[in-house]
Amino acid sequence: MPSGSGSLMWFRKGLRVHDNPALEYASRGSTCVYPLFVIDPHYMELDPNAYSPGSTRAGINRIRFLLESLADLDSSLKKLGSRLLVLKGEPSEVLIRCLNEWDVRKLCFEYDTDPYYQALDDKAKNYASAAGIEVFSPVSHTIFDPADIIEKNGGRPPLSYQSFLKLAGEPSFSLSVELSWMPPVGDVGRCEILQVPTLKELGYVEKHQDEFTPFRGGESEALRRLRESLSDKEWVANFEKPKGDPSAYIKPATTVLSPYLKFGCLSSRYFYQCLKDVYKNVKRHTSPPVSLVGQLLWREFFYTVAFGTPNFDEMKGNKICKQIPWNDDDKLLAAWRESRTGYPWIDAIMVQLRKWGWMHHLARHSVACFLTRGDLFVHWEKGRDIFERLLIDSDWAINNGNWLWLSCSSFFYQYNRIYSPISFGRKYDPNGNYIRHFLPILKAPLSVQTKAKCIIGRDYPKPVVLHDTASNECRKKMGQAYALNQRLNGRVSEEDLRKLR
Ligand code: FAD
Repeated sequence: MPSGSGSLMWFRKGLRVHDNPALEYASRGSTCVYPLFVIDPHYMELDPNAYSPGSTRAGINRIRFLLESLADLDSSLKKLGSRLLVLKGEPSEVLIRCLNEWDVRKLCFEYDTDPYYQALDDKAKNYASAAGIEVFSPVSHTIFDPADIIEKNGGRPPLSYQSFLKLAGEPSFSLSVELSWMPPVGDVGRCEILQVPTLKELGYVEKHQDEFTPFRGGESEALRRLRESLSDKEWVANFEKPKGDPSAYIKPATTVLSPYLKFGCLSSRYFYQCLKDVYKNVKRHTSPPVSLVGQLLWREFFYTVAFGTPNFDEMKGNKICKQIPWNDDDKLLAAWRESRTGYPWIDAIMVQLRKWGWMHHLARHSVACFLTRGDLFVHWEKGRDIFERLLIDSDWAINNGNWLWLSCSSFFYQYNRIYSPISFGRKYDPNGNYIRHFLPILKAPLSVQTKAKCIIGRDYPKPVVLHDTASNECRKKMGQAYALNQRLNGRVSEEDLRKLR
């Protein structure tokens, strides 16, 4: 039984000091606070065999974004009289060791709905309870508590945005009190505390010719970006998705706050409240689903469905997912992943993904549709995996939800509506500025092409499929699969799918 009155604040997401109820509770009435972040080698360790720089699970841009966010958090904690304690190892083992060795009476961490954290948190909670340590794990990553919405709906998640809105109603939360100081860090005993590592210390080599994401991690940058977006009240009031140019890369058409929300550098509740404040001061504003508040509610919607749906991230065993005889063509997948489809619009977007880890929503639509039901008929789970690794805003619930949507596996079923990989891009990027920025070889004169050993027509490939033929074939297969799903009431077996291939 712990004797003192120290708290352990376990950071995972929620990398911020503003609106952080777990941190506030950890600080309240405690003689000392241990702000801990555990570097999980499984997530961070260099994978030299990966198809692009990074670890097995995360591309280098997201690892860098995370390290920047941790450094920023450490600096904010220092301003409050504390600091971030960084340890390395399997998170539950490290946590249990710390709870054993340190003076901890309260264990505080933000509630997390991702399956990975649900399993980890169960271990942590069980251990803490048995050791007589109080556990405080508030919902603050989302505006609503997904479990509440599911309960209101009789135990099932709402499957449409509109029904979600009806159930959710107006949120009721109060932002946590801004901290002006924190209790000191307690005695860490024999634990070897690290500084926030650099990419180099983790074994990564940044090559000069590589282009890295222009988006810097951390709470300070999140709040600066938020202020910048909110300063243009007209823009906020008139925001209307899907209007907006997916090819705008110098000044993106949306907020680019997603990576900050993903890591919790920005509180979604604070963002929501700021938007509502802007709305109060303008004559008229757009509404969900197209408004900025509406975008945040899409996030809430996917979090709720993901939390309440077993096997949400798979086709098999997922009740809300149509069973479709996707192919496993690794050659086509590699061509898509490595920008070799021969469709400049698609290839440029995939370069932006590898180099920046962020693309506009409609750009994501284009490439996800192309890979799956639009042209290549490759399994959505394969595309999801690549997004999951490379996006800096990679988010389990939102990424899976959108792949289900784009592949017409769930939520959206109009499989006849296919984005053209040619004319859709041309509509927004008629002069090819976006394409040439991310695929500079397409603007190079022959001498440069020769030097770069990439001759257009020879090294820049011909289209991997012909869109007109491929998209018709995809429509036909989708039609057959939908009919089968209907006939068998969703109980489609492997064998049934094999027959359709
Ligand atoms: P804004 O338009 O400024 O919106 C503000 C916030 O609202 C976003 O930061 C995000 O948190 C939320 N939001 C916006 N659109 C959506 C949406 N469709 N679904 C859920 N939340 C939304 N978004 C992620 O955050 N992580 C992902 O892993 C992810 N994967 C995606 C995969 C596919 C195939 C597609 C089509 C979309 C995916 N999105 C994902 C959703 C969306 O594209 C991004 O959230 C958005 O482009 C981020 O840019 P922004 O912050 O400028 O968005």
